[in-house]
Amino acid sequence: MAIRFERREKIARYLDPRKDYAEVAVSCEIRRDPLTGRSGRVAHVLGFHLQPANLAPLIEASRAGCPFCPERVLEVTPRFPADVTPKGRVVCGEAVLFPNLAPYDEHSAVTAISHEHYVPMDAFTPTLLYNAFEACRMYFHDAQRLPGTTYALAFWNYLPASGGTQIHPHLQLFATDTPGNALEQELDASARYQQAEGSSYWADLLDTEERLGERFVARGAHTAWLTAFVSESLLTDTLILFPGQRTITDLPEAALEEFCGGLVQALRVLAAQGVYSFNLAFYPATPDRTDVWLHARLSPRVYMTPRFWGTDTSALHHLYNEHFMVRTPESAASALREALRL
Ligand SMILES: [Zn+2]
Repeated sequence: MAIRFERREKIARYLDPRKDYAEVAVSCEIRRDPLTGRSGRVAHVLGFHLQPANLAPLIEASRAGCPFCPERVLEVTPRFPADVTPKGRVVCGEAVLFPNLAPYDEHSAVTAISHEHYVPMDAFTPTLLYNAFEACRMYFHDAQRLPGTTYALAFWNYLPASGGTQIHPHLQLFATDTPGNALEQELDASARYQQAEGSSYWADLLDTEERLGERFVARGAHTAWLTAFVSESLLTDTLILFPGQRTITDLPEAALEEFCGGLVQALRVLAAQGVYSFNLAFYPATPDRTDVWLHARLSPRVYMTPRFWGTDTSALHHLYNEHFMVRTPESAASALREALRL
């Protein structure tokens, strides 16, 4: 077991005009992800306030003509060819799954989650989410019989601050042999760890985090929740591990149920903190990979300055691929730990 949480403090000094130009020292912290070695930082902590964004006018204006509302979804969205899935579209409860009109990959689909055009972050129910992810599983079961569908990706951009282009809640899905940089790097790093240590990084991570308790949130029968030592979000990411599982496609019903129940609670916690947008992504392995556990990352998204539509993605993130947190993963875990019951 060799999980290392590497952190290094740096001190910036300046003569502060608010203190008659007395010298002050402000600390920031550089961290390295224990799996990939990717760096990130805790910085900009002073003076950051989560500012509310008034999304109500946008939500109302987007109702007319929304392609995912129930009165339109079956008329304006594409159907799958019979060789992909014989049903044309996948329907499960309120969820409707169909091909992406603007595909990113050979098998690129969308799941409209709800009948409601707008679902506030704290109003999702376990049943609504379960049916949406169950529709994804049904689609992947069909699509992954075809070649070039090694990885089943599901991800969620909720509201515009996350990059979402529709207000109506929806998931995006790929069944692909090119799963993207982050997952490829994680899979490679997990294999290297297993080779070097003789154990699974993900099992070691959970053991270590549970023992340390700083970022550990909760563990149920099928899932484990913690915050990410190096997060993508400035408000800290939550990692949800599925011990022993590899894919969404083969995820047991009970595990999906527990995940959806936890996710509803985690979204309520974030909403109560003033967060109004998020990304969620699943990171699967292939069924033969005993060194990797299926996991998901829940990443809050906000506007840094809503008045100017100032996003939380600057050149530092976008071009240097260096993310920073204004809230430590340790404090975020503490808030989540008090609320989450699996
Ligand atoms: Zn709609």
